[in-house]
Amino acid sequence: MDVFSYMIKEVVCCICGGLPLFLLRATLTVGVDKMKTVVMKFGGTSVATPEKIIGVAKRAILEKEKGNRVVIVVSAMGKTTDTLVALANEISTEPPKREMDMLLATGEQVTISLLAMAFKALGHEALSFTGWQAGIETESVPRNARIEQIHTERLERVLENGFFCVVAGFQGVDKVGNITTLGRGGSDTTAVALAAALNADKCEIYTDVDGVYTADPRYVNGARKLEQISYDEMLELANLGAGVLHPRAVEFAKNNNVPLSVRASYSDEPGTIIQEVITVEKNLIVRGVAFERGIARVTASYEKPFNGSLAKIFMKLAEHHIDVDIIVQSISEEIPPSVSFSIKEESLEETKRVLESYRDEIGFVNLNYEVGLAKVSIVGSGMVSNPGVAARMFDILRLQDIPVKMVSTSEIKVSVVVPESDMEKSASALHDAYGLSY
Ligand code: ASP
Ligand code: MG
Repeated sequence: MDVFSYMIKEVVCCICGGLPLFLLRATLTVGVDKMKTVVMKFGGTSVATPEKIIGVAKRAILEKEKGNRVVIVVSAMGKTTDTLVALANEISTEPPKREMDMLLATGEQVTISLLAMAFKALGHEALSFTGWQAGIETESVPRNARIEQIHTERLERVLENGFFCVVAGFQGVDKVGNITTLGRGGSDTTAVALAAALNADKCEIYTDVDGVYTADPRYVNGARKLEQISYDEMLELANLGAGVLHPRAVEFAKNNNVPLSVRASYSDEPGTIIQEVITVEKNLIVRGVAFERGIARVTASYEKPFNGSLAKIFMKLAEHHIDVDIIVQSISEEIPPSVSFSIKEESLEETKRVLESYRDEIGFVNLNYEVGLAKVSIVGSGMVSNPGVAARMFDILRLQDIPVKMVSTSEIKVSVVVPESDMEKSASALHDAYGLSY
């Protein structure tokens, strides 16, 4: 980037300080670089041992030798984050969230320093950066912060000097200077956000699977790797429990049009490309099946119509940061009203506590709970223009004698809540019936 464009960037950045990232990104494109910028992200299993870390460095060196500027984002080694969480739980049943962020952020810091050392040992220049050193500014929500802005000046300078930039995933800093983390699996989001801010030519997520599959191959026979998938489909799959990508990473990629791919750290296969427009193989209406266990259903029933209390229930839950998923309510003259909703089983105790403590205010007479449920979903952009997708889904499940407890739909997905014991059977039946299997 020449001096002139750098100055322009600085000025515009000052003016738009605090505005969303895309503005920042637009200003960065002022300086047109001939060299391509590549962001490569490696997850915990891909950096689990010193040998693997050296392997990551070698892989990044190959990328640089193609003439690219390379930023590497890494997760904590192996199961480090889990170990740190367990450690905190030995000290306290409810550790302060701020201190959890402080603790968890150390995991990634180990990896970045080791990786930078590996580059040096291989004869290359590299610098490691924590989230805040890399200019990653987040909102002040401990353990689940969103990235608000990235000040890329320092990374730009280091890249310009021909160094590798090694950045800690999953962490940032809030306006007051507290270290924050981005939610479990958040290193993906760091990588995509950096790619957007640096106007990178590609962002590659290297992981322990070789791409995005039509369903999790550990549970569904015949699951296939997808060559391409659209941002929207991937966003639904990620939100519906396909653990391969952090949902916010996909959201970021979509909003900023970041060319994203998921591929294996152990092979040279191209993996799955995630982009806006895809060429659909075989014209399939359903492109993937996702599932998630550990779902609970809560039902509140009333004696008489309950104007206003529906809002009250969900307001109270929101105040306590309890995520509600599917909500079902139906009002008719003849029957006493009720509302059911699904949550993660792990929030059930807190949900009960919150609702019971506002019982009079909310006005329900009974609360029922059901645990041991799972959510199974079908996803595909082709659904928008195809009526009868849900009907077909219910029929497939009926033929397998699987009871459907709740339903929710969007333009490109249908989700059902079923008994957890039927989850794999449901997923396989749907995967086969929609022609996704080999
Ligand atoms: N180390 C963090 C986690 O285990 C972040 C990540 O791996 O993406 O959740
Ligand atoms: Mg991950």
